[in-house]
Amino acid sequence: MRNIFVLLLISIAVFSCDENSSNQDIKNEPVQVEEEGENFMQGIKDLGRKTIEQGQKLSKKVKEKWKKVEINGFSIEDDIKMGKQLYDEIHASSEYKVISEKNNGKLYEYIENIKQTILSNGNFKYKEQFEWKITILEDDKTINAFCAPGGYIFIYTGIIQYLDNEAELAGVLAHEMGHAERRHGTRQLTKALGIQILLDFIMRGKNSDYFKQVIGGLINLRYSRSYEREADECSVEYLCKTDYESDGAAGFFEKIVEEKGNQSAELLSTHPDPEERISNFKSLKKEMNCQGKSSYAERYRKIKKLAI
Ligand SMILES: [Zn+2]
Repeated sequence: MRNIFVLLLISIAVFSCDENSSNQDIKNEPVQVEEEGENFMQGIKDLGRKTIEQGQKLSKKVKEKWKKVEINGFSIEDDIKMGKQLYDEIHASSEYKVISEKNNGKLYEYIENIKQTILSNGNFKYKEQFEWKITILEDDKTINAFCAPGGYIFIYTGIIQYLDNEAELAGVLAHEMGHAERRHGTRQLTKALGIQILLDFIMRGKNSDYFKQVIGGLINLRYSRSYEREADECSVEYLCKTDYESDGAAGFFEKIVEEKGNQSAELLSTHPDPEERISNFKSLKKEMNCQGKSSYAERYRKIKKLAI
C-alpha cells in the first residue's frame, strides 16, 4: 500500500506537469503499478476533476506516460457488469448460435466438470466473485474459445472438435480463465481507451451508450504478448495440482504447427509464436514439478460426438 501511495505522488507530479514545463518529474522512471490501488485511482479521479473543471486538455507527455502505466481503471464490479452485458448480447444476438444447455445437458455437464476441476485446484482470487459461466457456441469452423471479464466463458464447437483429448481442452479453458482472473480485458481496455477518455468515463459516469461501445471492443480485443504469456502460465499452474497433463494447452499448438492451421483463434491472437509457446508450456510444467499424466483421450472422443 505504501508503494502505491508513493507511486500516487509520483503520478500526480507527472500527470500535473504542463506540456511545456521542464519539470524534472517527467524524467522519473515510468510509473509501474502492478495492482490497482484505491489511492492511485483516487489521484487519477482528482486530476480528472481538475482537468474537466478547468477545461484543460491533458498534455502529450502525460498521455505518453499513461501508455506505460500498468493499472486497471475498472472495478471488479465493472468486470462482472461488462461480462454479463456481453453474455446477454451474445445470447440475444442472431449472429451467434448458442447451444442450449437444456437440450445438451451432457456436453455442458462434461465441460462444467472440467471447469470445476480447474477452479478447485487453481489459486483463484475471484473464484467466488466471478460467474465462471460456460456458453457453447455452434460454429464448426471457428477453432476458438474466449473468456469475457467476470468469467463468462465461450467455447466454439470448432475447438471441441479440433482438440484430441480432455487435457488439451482443460489447458485451453485454463488459459482463457486466466485472462479473466488476471483481468486482462479491462487492463487492456484501460490502456486502449487512453487517459482522456478514461477520465471522462470515470468522471461523467458510465452511461449506457458509452458502456456499450466499450463492450463492443471487448469481443475483438487482442491481448498483448505479456498477457498471453501470463495466461499460458495460468494454464499450467491451474492444471498442476490436477491429474491432467498440465501442459495440455501445448497439444493445441502442436497441432496448429503440424497442420499450419487456423490463425484466427484467440489463443493465436498475438506474437509469441506457437513453437515458443510449446516450449514455454513444457518448461513451466518442469519448473512447477507437475505430476499429472492423464489426458482422457478415450472419454473425450465420445463426448466430441455430442458437439457435432
Ligand atoms: Zn489468450
